[in-house]
Amino acid sequence: MRMPLIAGNWKMNGSLALVDEFGQRCANVDMPPSVEVVVLPPAPYLAAAQAAFEKTALQVGAQTLNPEPGGAYTGEVSAAMLAEFGVGYVLVGHSERRSLYHEDDEAVSARARAALDAGLSPILCVGETLEERDAGDSEAVVLSQVKAVFDTLDARQRERMVIAYEPVWAIGTGRTATPEQAQAVHAAIRACLVDYDKGLATVLRLLYGGSMKRENAAELLAQPDIDGGLIGGASLKVDDFLAICQSAG
Ligand code: PEP
Repeated sequence: MRMPLIAGNWKMNGSLALVDEFGQRCANVDMPPSVEVVVLPPAPYLAAAQAAFEKTALQVGAQTLNPEPGGAYTGEVSAAMLAEFGVGYVLVGHSERRSLYHEDDEAVSARARAALDAGLSPILCVGETLEERDAGDSEAVVLSQVKAVFDTLDARQRERMVIAYEPVWAIGTGRTATPEQAQAVHAAIRACLVDYDKGLATVLRLLYGGSMKRENAAELLAQPDIDGGLIGGASLKVDDFLAICQSAG
């Protein structure tokens, strides 16, 4: 049985006040015990989030990392630094990192391995563009992104991964994949994991991301191969985010 995971990616949004609001509201809310919930604020808010979420069911996550352990990399943050602030999950390969910061499969893979070495669980984001979908290449693109990382990992490392299928055309656009479209790609990813190991395919969690909101979360999360959500815009409003967490329970 895979425990649903709901992850809120704040991107470059939020404030200390929003961190506190989440901490206070979530301290007084009964989260479904069967759901894991993680909030990924911008890096400067990690310490505040660690403190504010202490009495809540919220975990602290991070949006990116540099694969190097340290050194002359101005502006960057290492996996060990994230671990010091209680980060358990970190995104790698988010489409905004791939497109805006030119992180290719090799860079994504290096980040995943650095995170794993520091004891973090990477959430590997994969997804096709609209052109790729229209060309009928969705599954090929997504599976090649998965394999580019999973081929570089050993069996124990693979088990600590989470995969988020995020069609690029659905991120921040308000246009969500239908439950059937999302399920089809999730099923293809799970079938691909069988090639590594049958047990791995059974335990690994596959999240859907791309304009998931309180209105559509339940039907997406009801799909057999969708084990949670990676939420952008709707994770910035505590009521909306909590509603999505409830629909995963
Ligand atoms: C995301 O940033 O990963 C995301 C899914 O964003 P949104 O929910 O806003 O589409």
